[in-house]
Amino acid sequence: MSLIDRDKKVIWHPYTQMKLYGDVIPIVRGKGAYLISETGDKYIDAVSSWWVTLHGHAHPHIVNALHEQASTLEQVIFAGFTHPKAVELAERLLKVLPDNQSRIFYSDNGSTAVEVAIKMALQYWKNIESTKNRIIAIEGAYHGDTFGAMSVSERSAFTKPFTEKLFEVDFIPFPERNKEQAALSHFEKLISQGNTAAFIFEPLVQGAAGMRMYDKQVLKKLLDLCKKHSVLSIADEVMTGFGRTGKMFAMEYVQEKPDIVCLSKGITAGFMPFGTTTCTSEIYNAFYSDDVMKTFFHGHSYTGNPLACAIACASLDVFETEKTLEKITQIESSHQLFRKEISNYPCVKNIRILGTILAFEIDSSKTGYFNEIGKQAYNYFIENNVLLRPLGNVIYILPPYCITQEELNEVYQVITSFLQKISSVE
Ligand code: PMP
Repeated sequence: MSLIDRDKKVIWHPYTQMKLYGDVIPIVRGKGAYLISETGDKYIDAVSSWWVTLHGHAHPHIVNALHEQASTLEQVIFAGFTHPKAVELAERLLKVLPDNQSRIFYSDNGSTAVEVAIKMALQYWKNIESTKNRIIAIEGAYHGDTFGAMSVSERSAFTKPFTEKLFEVDFIPFPERNKEQAALSHFEKLISQGNTAAFIFEPLVQGAAGMRMYDKQVLKKLLDLCKKHSVLSIADEVMTGFGRTGKMFAMEYVQEKPDIVCLSKGITAGFMPFGTTTCTSEIYNAFYSDDVMKTFFHGHSYTGNPLACAIACASLDVFETEKTLEKITQIESSHQLFRKEISNYPCVKNIRILGTILAFEIDSSKTGYFNEIGKQAYNYFIENNVLLRPLGNVIYILPPYCITQEELNEVYQVITSFLQKISSVE
């Protein structure tokens, strides 16, 4: 029986209506920017396999680090014990994160990094005997699929079956261009009530909402208001972290610093699930007490897993040895040229670029996640050996940093040929 048929019998895939979905593509190997199928077809992974792959699939330096760590120490309970790579990673992350960050809490993925952030923020106020308990988020937000993360995310098709089980959150409008003031005024009104514990946001780019970008001046103002009203700010850098936006972290675009940062995805360069939540010493100190009830009672079996920590350290090595941030600048310049090329298509709207992320909308009457044009585009790209996974009518590129100019050109070419195809039938 083929891998596809065996898969069909036993696997339940994420975000997939199994009854309606056709065959999955069996991938047996990855190399650089490519995913290679059982039958030898090569696909350019232009979405970094759900925004995680950084330096390329099977990067040898990371493979070696993983191998070495696996044969030394693969796992150790992280309560009452520590290990060299957990400490090294924390030290190295603190060197590159905004300089007000002082403690690292490990978990398993982006959703748990967010859960930890929410719990940390809410308990912080309890521990210092404040009654602040509300959370503000931005409309369109996506922070993960666990209950806390869903609660602070846009109420959508993803959260619909669980709506009444989600806790109440205040949402402000997305601060799109020319509508920033509405978002800011709404925010100020909410925050002035004095009961806001935390504000959670995806800095500068809302990923799952369709790579929606907003101005850094707005972010600055939102964070200033947080400071003014003593509200904790939680930067969800799960997608934006580790170079995606052109800087190591999107928060580097503003001077204001977040109180809490959530990291995952690129932290292990796409090799393993892992998450971290980092915080300031002020937050940490509210838990540091003789009172056992002020403990942060949170942890996972794999918290601080040595393999994940070793890989994350190896990925940081690659940033240095391969001058990754320079590669990122090159990808951005290349995107800028491509922007000019596609801006001539009448069906192309709202092209935006930040660092390695390029996104645009295909103008069609229907929009949203279930938009048919997205499916059509996806199939076309796959037939042409490029993995691009549109979000509704939003086509975006989010490539691994190892992608060569030739490979990037291939991605651009398949997009333009799709645009030509749909333009000719319109
Ligand atoms: N936050 C953001 C901004 C994300 O984009 C995602 C995942 N797309 C998450 C959190 C959740 O991460 P995970 O899928 O690893 O749980």
